[in-house]
Amino acid sequence: MLDHVPASGCDTRPVLRERGQREVFCGLTGIVWMHRKIQDAFFLVVGSRTCAHLLQSAAGVMIFAEPRFATAILDERDLAGLADAQEELDRNVARLLERRPDIKLLFLVGSCPSEVIKLDLHRAAQRLDRRFNGVRVLNYSGSGIETTFTQGEDACLAALVPELPATDAAQLVIVGALAEVVEDQWRRLYATMGITNIAFLPARRAGEMPAVGQGTRYLLAQPFLAETARLLDARGARHIPALFPLGAEGTTAFLRAGAEAMGVGAGRFAEATAAAEARARAALEGPRARLAGKRIFFFPDSQLEVPMARFLTRECGMEAVEIGTPYLHRAHLAAEMPLLPAAATLSEGQDVERQLDRCLAARPDLVVCGLGLANPLEAQGITTKWSIELVFTPVQGYDQAADLASLFARPFARRDMLRV
Ligand code: SF4
Repeated sequence: MLDHVPASGCDTRPVLRERGQREVFCGLTGIVWMHRKIQDAFFLVVGSRTCAHLLQSAAGVMIFAEPRFATAILDERDLAGLADAQEELDRNVARLLERRPDIKLLFLVGSCPSEVIKLDLHRAAQRLDRRFNGVRVLNYSGSGIETTFTQGEDACLAALVPELPATDAAQLVIVGALAEVVEDQWRRLYATMGITNIAFLPARRAGEMPAVGQGTRYLLAQPFLAETARLLDARGARHIPALFPLGAEGTTAFLRAGAEAMGVGAGRFAEATAAAEARARAALEGPRARLAGKRIFFFPDSQLEVPMARFLTRECGMEAVEIGTPYLHRAHLAAEMPLLPAAATLSEGQDVERQLDRCLAARPDLVVCGLGLANPLEAQGITTKWSIELVFTPVQGYDQAADLASLFARPFARRDMLRV
C-alpha cells in the first residue's frame, strides 16, 4: 500500500455541492487531444455550426494541418425532420472514407443537437461498421448535456472497452491518454523491474488496442475515467487504487501500486525508480522557490483539480483556498483526499457567480480557471492560469513534474516582468 496514506474511506471532509450557472467546456473538446493520440482514428461530430466553431477555436492552428476530426453539420432540414439524417450521414461517411483511406477507426460523436433530435448514432455506427470493411465505426456522446470537458475522453475510451479483444493473461494496463514520452519512460522503468506485460489504453493505433479480461489489473492515469473503469470492471479487469501520477510523490505512488500488483518487491522497485524520483525532486526546487507560500484557488474544469492541489500543496509549498471540481469521484480519489490540506474548501459542481464572489473575497495569489474567466479576473488584478493547458501539456511522470510546477510559476514570472 501507499506510504503515509490513510486507508480509503476514512476521509469525511465536508464537500460544498453547488448547482447553478456553469463555465465549462463540453466533452467535444476531448477530440483535440484524442485525435493526436490515436493516430489512425477520425472523429466525426454530428452537430451544429456551434459545435464546429467550438472545435475550431479549441484546436487553434491545428485546423490547418489536415486534422482527423470534422463536423457533419445538421442543418434546418435535418432539424425539422424533412431530410433523412441517417441517409445523409451515410453519404458523408462514405465520402470521407473514400478520401481518407488512412482511417482505421471512426468515431461518430454525438452533440447537443443530435441528442435533442434523438438521432440514433449507435445504430448508425453499427450499420456503417458492417458496411465498411477494415474500418471500425463506434460512437459516443461529447454533448454539453451529458459531458463536461475531459469526460469526452472517458466517453471515447468507454466506447472502446466493449470492443477490446478478450484475454485472461496476467498483465498491467495503464488507462488514460498520455504523451508518448511518458509512456516510453514508464515502459522503461517497468522493464528494469522485469515487468514487460504492460499495455496502454488507448494505444497509438486502432489495431494495437490491448486485450482485457480476468488477468488484467489496471491503473487509472487520469481521474476522470469513471465510465471507462466501470466497463473495464465488467470485463473482469481489476482496478489498482493509487495516487494519480502528478509530481514526484504521485508518480512514485502510482508506479509502486502497479509494481506491487505485479509482484515486484519494494527493494527492486526502489532501485528502479530512486534516481528518477531524486531527479524530479531536484528539478522542482526552482519552481518551488516561486510558488511556496502562495495561495491558489481552483475553479472546476477538468477533474484534475484534486491531484493538482495535492501536488502543489505538498511538493511546491502552496496553500489551497478552494479546490473546485466538476465531479468528485470519491472511490477513485480515495488515496488523494486525505492528502489535501484540511483548511481548503472542497467544492463539487458550480454556481459561477457565487464562486466568483468567494474568489474575489479571498483574493488568492493564483486562480486556475477556464479562458472565459481568466481575462476578467486578470483585469481585477488577480493572476490566473488557464486550466486547458493542463490537459494539453504532458504533465504526468517524473520528468514532467518540474514542467507541471513551472506552468503555475510562469504567470507569476510574467506579472513580475510586467511590473518592472
Ligand atoms: S455539443 Fe453542445 S455544448 Fe458542445 S459545442 Fe455542440 S451545442 Fe455546444
